[in-house]
Amino acid sequence: MNAPTTELIKQHLIDPEICIRCNTCEETCPVDAVTHDGNNYVVDASICNHCMDCISPCPTGSIDNWRVVSKAYSLEEQYSWEELPKQEEVAAAAGEGGAVEALEDEVSKLLEEARKGLGGKPVAPHSASKPTVNLYNRGKLAVATVTGNFRLTDAASDTDVRHIILDFGDQPFPVLEGQSIGVVAPGTDENGKPHVARLYSVASPRGGEKPNTNNLALTVKREDKGVCSNYLCDLPRGSKVEVTGPFGATFLMPDDPAANIIMICTGTGSAPFRGFTERRRRAMPDAPGRLLLFFGARRPEELPYFGPLQKVPEKLLGKYFCYSRVPDQPRVYVQDRIRSEMAQIATLLRDDKTHVYICGLKGMESGVDEAFADACRAASIDWSSVKPRMRESGRYHVETY
Ligand code: FAD
Repeated sequence: MNAPTTELIKQHLIDPEICIRCNTCEETCPVDAVTHDGNNYVVDASICNHCMDCISPCPTGSIDNWRVVSKAYSLEEQYSWEELPKQEEVAAAAGEGGAVEALEDEVSKLLEEARKGLGGKPVAPHSASKPTVNLYNRGKLAVATVTGNFRLTDAASDTDVRHIILDFGDQPFPVLEGQSIGVVAPGTDENGKPHVARLYSVASPRGGEKPNTNNLALTVKREDKGVCSNYLCDLPRGSKVEVTGPFGATFLMPDDPAANIIMICTGTGSAPFRGFTERRRRAMPDAPGRLLLFFGARRPEELPYFGPLQKVPEKLLGKYFCYSRVPDQPRVYVQDRIRSEMAQIATLLRDDKTHVYICGLKGMESGVDEAFADACRAASIDWSSVKPRMRESGRYHVETY
């Protein structure tokens, strides 16, 4: 590769049309190059060292944008953007085609390394199908029709979680199990700006709620005073919804019937695992790989899909429910249930065909991690070396929010 001959730089930028302002990049950046105002998340070119740590954790991929420029865009410029500037105009101004190409090559190499998971960053399972991402954004929204909206949790419970079916009609909207979509609530925020999209995991397998339909289901929990969750939970059938995405290129299901999948979730974290289970049932019902679901809720009445899950045969899915607020019962969390299945877990973790997925409340990973470490210790397995190996080979995934 030839070294650039001019003072061009490659600038790391965030796409304001796709970004959901979840703060993950700012939390992840080891050098504090990412910052934000009330409008946009931006990268300070004078600090960013292209370490790529922020690329994989970003749930939408909006972080993965680059421009070759002769003068870096300032923070103020980036704060004011509604959309990213085009590369062509900037490159033409620099007038050095060869140098631009050299820098673009360099960025591609760094990205490739980041995506390969060097340093233990999340990567997709090797057997996963290739996902489509960012087909729709704020500038080009998909419009879905609500064809179903019903409550999953007991009417007596104060937790309202809903199963919402969105139909995309004749607009292509291909999703894989484990991906998310963005939903844009109508109206504006307190600054008079359109609401940013909120992400929701796809709860159906590829191919739709019913096979060969262009629809998908979401599992949405109503949050007190939450803009988008209340909007979605209140939508009657026939309503139109603006959608972005699909998003997510790593939290994907292995497409290998021999893969064992340990799924651990709380609340609406069950959504992707519904998709995984349905995919197995539909596409490979006699798969030799095991599916295990560790599912935590406060009470059975608050556990989304409790009824339908009871009917899933044990042969297809091993179910381990745990409840933390049943009167007169000890509090049991997912990590406790993992410990009570220690021997089985250790056997699975020895197997290179085993994948782990954790989805749900922020903070649940550490308890689960300790339970895995205990299960491994009891079986003389070194979890501290198994876990990074699993991450690097796309077999250990966490999605919490
Ligand atoms: P917001 O309006 O964004 O408010 C956020 C919080 O602030 C709320 O809890 C609300 O209680 C509080 N709040 C807001 N306004 C006020 C106020 N005036 N006074 C007091 N408190 C206030 N969620 C799901 O339900 N299902 C999923 O499958 C799902 N998947 C996700 C996948 C990913 C990768 C990510 C990142 C998130 C996912 N989420 C999911 C979370 C979802 O994106 C939203 O964050 C969630 O629905 C809350 O959005 P909201 O617009 O309702 O709340």
